[in-house]
Amino acid sequence: MSHSLQALDRAHHLHPFTDFKALGEEGSRIIERAEGVYIHDAEGNRLLDGMAGLWCVNLGYGRVELVTAATEQMRRLPYYNNFFKTTHPPAVRLAEKLCALAPAHLNHVFFTGSGSEANDTVLRMVRRYWTLKGKPEKHWVIGRENGYHGSTVAGMSLGGMAPMHDQGGPCVPGITHVRQPYWFGEGRFGDVRDQDPEAFGRQCAAAIEEKILELGEETVAAFIAEPVQGAGGAIMPPASYWPAVKEVLSRYDILLVVDEVICGFGRLGEWFGSVHYDLAPDLMPIAKGLSSGYLPIGGVLVGDRVADTLIQEGGEFFHGFTYSGHPVCAAVALKNLELMEAEGVVERVRDELGPYLARRWATLADHPLVGEARSLGLMGALELIDPASGERFDKALAAGNLCRDISFRRGLVMRSVGDTMIIAPPLVITREQIDDLVTLAREALDETARCLVPRAADEPQPEERPA
Ligand SMILES: *Cc1c(COP(=O)(O)O)cnc(C)c1O
Repeated sequence: MSHSLQALDRAHHLHPFTDFKALGEEGSRIIERAEGVYIHDAEGNRLLDGMAGLWCVNLGYGRVELVTAATEQMRRLPYYNNFFKTTHPPAVRLAEKLCALAPAHLNHVFFTGSGSEANDTVLRMVRRYWTLKGKPEKHWVIGRENGYHGSTVAGMSLGGMAPMHDQGGPCVPGITHVRQPYWFGEGRFGDVRDQDPEAFGRQCAAAIEEKILELGEETVAAFIAEPVQGAGGAIMPPASYWPAVKEVLSRYDILLVVDEVICGFGRLGEWFGSVHYDLAPDLMPIAKGLSSGYLPIGGVLVGDRVADTLIQEGGEFFHGFTYSGHPVCAAVALKNLELMEAEGVVERVRDELGPYLARRWATLADHPLVGEARSLGLMGALELIDPASGERFDKALAAGNLCRDISFRRGLVMRSVGDTMIIAPPLVITREQIDDLVTLAREALDETARCLVPRAADEPQPEERPA
């Protein structure tokens, strides 16, 4: 069965972020069902989902309450739109709930179908805002290298993923990027090595000011960033970074857009990453964990400063999606947030599971392949290094992809970004399951070491290297 599905998949299905030809040759892994923190593939393997799907299944798989919320709403009103002065109860109730959970100055939400659409909306709102303020010259948006804001044209332009720009360019005009606060990659192993992390964090913030002056201080509309870079490699900035960034932005009257698509809804142990880092953003794109991934929905939480202008001075805003605030998606998202609240999921990540993962994850730092083990809330990363040289591996070895494939085979979904291994498990993971996750990660590292550096291994088994 899985064999014929693989053949059909190869014949007709173009996967996202995939080398189509290479996947066709290998065949895809088919996931058939899931419960809790586990997924099951068509070959009968059970895997611990260390990535919560794509950073989104915060409440874990198999929550019947969410299924019930969806089916009840489907029966009552499967679709209606929010255009032309209409709405429906799920969209209104979800908007109210989101504004109650968000920091006090965020009191409005614009719904979208995804995180990418949320960031397209951000770009439209930011430019509209400054035009309404009589400052249309303020049109530049500064993002960060290796930031991720989605895969639509605006999302990929706001993001700083060079391979995406190379394939999708020319990008949307008026968007530029500054260096990312990635200490391990650019402060420890960068052009200048072994910098002090806090000094490095301040330099990265200073790069924003340099860019503002380069562009002209009257021309910059907004700065967009993730609290912690997710797709870029679970990159937690040095503590000095965010306070310095906030200071620069306020000095030049530049809007702060904090992309909460991953960090929102408990990932970092607060409802929003902005709360953890005390960011007070003007705009907050959200998606993913908003519905625990059960149905597609996103949005932009809008701060009073921007909302008041759009409402009072804007007239009609010519923007929106057929599925903005879709009733079934909204009903599921609302139930998801209610369950998270009732079960104290966010507090448990902050007070118990995050600190527990931090302790257990840190034990991997003694592994010969690991140059750094870091985590915050339920997000973690391991930086692979070559134990023979103490340097990063030759990129051609694709050590991270090898470790990811081994990890999959051993029953743990761990993702690789270059030679950074990352995890972001469902927020309902237990301590015992965290122990299993760390054990499986260590076993994957051991096997990766045996493949890559036979000298460092007790029993060289290069034939284990998967094709
Ligand atoms: C995933 C992601 C997006 C894009 O969301 P989609 O729903 O895939 O369009 C945007 N921003 C961040 C930070 C993300 O992680």
